[in-house]
Formats: sequence, structure tokens, C-alpha cells
Amino acid sequence: MLGRMTGAVPSPAEQAVVQQRLCEWFKRYGRDLPWRHTRDPYAVLVSEVMLQQTQVDRVIPRWREWMERFPSLKMLAEASRGDVIRAWSGLGYNSRAVRLHELARVTVDRLEGVLPSSVEGLLGLPGIGRYTAGAVASFAFERPVSLVETNVRRVLGRVFWGQPETGVAETRAVQALADAVLPVIDSWTWNQALMDLGATICTASTPACLICPLREVCRAAPLMSTWPDERRRRLREAREQYAAAAPTREVPRRVLRGRAVAALAKLPSHVAIALDALGPHVRADYGPDHREWLAATLRALAADGLVYVEDGAEGLVARLP
Ligand code: SF4
Repeated sequence: MLGRMTGAVPSPAEQAVVQQRLCEWFKRYGRDLPWRHTRDPYAVLVSEVMLQQTQVDRVIPRWREWMERFPSLKMLAEASRGDVIRAWSGLGYNSRAVRLHELARVTVDRLEGVLPSSVEGLLGLPGIGRYTAGAVASFAFERPVSLVETNVRRVLGRVFWGQPETGVAETRAVQALADAVLPVIDSWTWNQALMDLGATICTASTPACLICPLREVCRAAPLMSTWPDERRRRLREAREQYAAAAPTREVPRRVLRGRAVAALAKLPSHVAIALDALGPHVRADYGPDHREWLAATLRALAADGLVYVEDGAEGLVARLP
């Protein structure tokens, strides 16, 4: 049986067999996602930003709509902030729309609307982190760049280190491993394949080792048949502890902020709404006591560029920018 080897770099022969099996599997069974049919860096960037906090199934129709509404970085840059937020509404984490819009404006102003092809160049743009820069460089420009996100961290940790779970704290070591095992040829397929395997077969809680293309070479495979039970038990214990510690829970602030933006997105362009008219759309228990809280929430959203607020004759009013 293969042993655990956390932090070690696998031999070239081991890397080669994993690369070959995984890439062949992907070519037959990889998910047919619309952004995989394009190398337009803007289209790839939009998909990556949408996927950051939203499930693939929800992103697919929204990505198509977005690309019809704003087919180029230039058209996105020229749109009003309100239209951009309106088009994003329902995807959640609206600040992503603001960042994307800002990035489009900066790219058009400074780079004539052309996204850089290198990780370094992409990192110079506002709102782009290491993962997104790498994803655009790899998936649009087919640069040999390794990518580490949740699925990749889990798959690499299992296959090469024999660890059922690899935590965020180990990201740096996983990044070094990902760099070491990145194939010289067709890293586009490798990166997509790692993510697909993690999303569909080597999942966090119920890995399907029996149908996995890597089961004969994966160092964690011998441990996994009993591992889901162990994980389920630990998750149940954690949930029980959480429930005991927090018997009543407030709706998260993020959700309330999202509701405020969603309600404003339903108004016609440039139409503002007063606090007391907006309040019941944000929280079911809204009353005069919440007025101050809602005003502060809207001012915070305004500071993030998501809404526009104004002190009118009858108090604060808000609308999309
Ligand atoms: S054999 Fe199991 S643990 Fe290993 S990569 Fe495949 S699904 Fe994941």
C-alpha cells in the first residue's frame, strides 16, 4: 500500500501516470460548460468571478445572459453602475459586480480594453487575486500556470499525499505541489480536469473512488472506504456543538444587504425609495426601530459603490447608482 507523504514531491513517473489518466478521463467525461468553448479572456474572467461564490448550475444561465448583455469589456465599462448591479442581481455577493465593473473601466482606460495574458499583468488590475489571475492566464491564454482552489487542494492532497483532507493552512505547500506536477503540455486540460474530478467524483464528503480514474494510483484511496463515516460523525458533532452554542441565530448581515440591493434592483432606473418603503423588503420584522440600522446599512452599501443614497425632505432615500 502506498504511504502518506505530506509535503513531498512525487516522482516524475508517478506524475506522468496521474496526468495521463486524469486528462484522458476529462476528455471523455469532463463537464460541458459554456465558458470552456471560448478563449475570450473577458468571457473567462466573467465565469471565474461568477463561480467564486455561486454554484455552476446557477452560473450557466446567468453567464449566458451577461455575455449577451455585456459582450465585451468595453461595453461593460460603458454601462452604468446601476445596470451592472441590476444584471448581477440574484447571483449574490453584489460587490463582485462592482469590482468587475471597476476592472472593466480601468482596463479600457489604461490598456485599451485588452486584458494582460500573464499572471503578473492580471494581478496589476483591481480586484484580481492570485487564483483569478491564474485562471484567466490558464483558461483564456493557455499559459502553463498551476491553480489551487478548494477542489484542487483536496484532489492533490489525496492523490499525491494520501491525505483525506487538506486544510487551507496547507495552501502554500499545495501550491508548491501544484507547480511541481503541472504538465508542460496541455496544462489547460490538466487544470480543468483537476477541478472537474474534485467537483464530480473526488468530492469532499462522498468520494466515488470506485469509478475514479485515479483509484489505482491515488495514495488516499485505501483509506477512503471508511472515511466518509468518520467525516459524517465529525460534521454531526460540530453541528450539534454549533446549535448548542447558538440556539437563536440572526439572519446574516450579508443576506440583509443582498436583500436591500435586490429590492432596489427591481425599481426603474434612477427611481429612489424611502427607508420605510424599502425596510419590509429587507427584513420581515421591519419597524421604526430598524430605521437607523437600515440607514447605516445603506450608507455602508453606498460606500462600497453598490447603492446611491440621498438625504431628501422626508429622510434618506436610496436607489441603484
Ligand atoms: S481514488 Fe478516491 S480519493 Fe483518490 S482521487 Fe479518486 S475519488 Fe479521490
